[in-house]
Amino acid sequence: MDNILRIIEKSGAFRAFVADTTQLVNEAVKIHNLSPVAAAAMGRTLTAAAIMGLDLKSDSESLSVQINGDGPLGTIVTVTDCHANVRGYIDNPFVDLPLKSNKKLDVASAVGKGQLTIIRSTGLKEPYVGQVDLQTSEIAEDIAYYFMNSQQTPSVVALGVLVDVDYSIKAAGGYVIQLLPGADDEIIQKLEANVYTLESVTDMLSKGMDAEQMTRELLLGFDYEVLMKYTPGYKCNCSKERMERALISLGRKELEKIIEEDGKAELCCHFCKNNFTFSKDELISLLESSKG
Ligand code: ZN
Repeated sequence: MDNILRIIEKSGAFRAFVADTTQLVNEAVKIHNLSPVAAAAMGRTLTAAAIMGLDLKSDSESLSVQINGDGPLGTIVTVTDCHANVRGYIDNPFVDLPLKSNKKLDVASAVGKGQLTIIRSTGLKEPYVGQVDLQTSEIAEDIAYYFMNSQQTPSVVALGVLVDVDYSIKAAGGYVIQLLPGADDEIIQKLEANVYTLESVTDMLSKGMDAEQMTRELLLGFDYEVLMKYTPGYKCNCSKERMERALISLGRKELEKIIEEDGKAELCCHFCKNNFTFSKDELISLLESSKG
């Protein structure tokens, strides 16, 4: 089962999140028909969003992690709440590129150069927007760069997606370690040594390890505590009411035109591909209600 653990080192030197998001990414593959390289790019972004959203303060907040590269995948948008319920979409889900010489998916070429944007909406004030240039376009390094650049937090970020021969997801997950103020050099060096010798996230997950077992390997020799265990999932919050609001926001002229020319409206949710149909009568009553 998918899990994300929130961990604190007992002396307060660092905190960490360790995630198994295999099912979540598999769900994204099914909904969007993702090619392997699109699954890798989107799966890494969804995993990062699921972890980063856990710092949101309340149910009314949301966090969006967006990758805007000039590569063939186009834009990747992911959105999460504070419970690691994540959704997303990608401009071009069917992109196929040759493997790199090391037989790995070429995520960096598929993403291209561009920006990583983080948008935190509180529902009350203007959203907080942070943006950095993509450094490697492999996403994990770009997220680490964002933490350092925008939040002045030295971080280690690892994100991995392993695609099976049938294009389903064999393993997906990752971890984020963030140094807290006052972390001493000895701890930093030991942490670096652990990360350096650690197997990749997808290797560990494919062996059948779960988030707890990965944490034991990652934090070998450290005294730590698991503060919280979350269950991430692919979950959309669309509804007919939200789609109504989208229709109303088109404006009265546009609505009148749809009623006259099409006699109905069909809207598809970008995030989950659910279809919503509005009959002529429903559209007319929407038009009526938008008058007031
Ligand atoms: Zn939806």
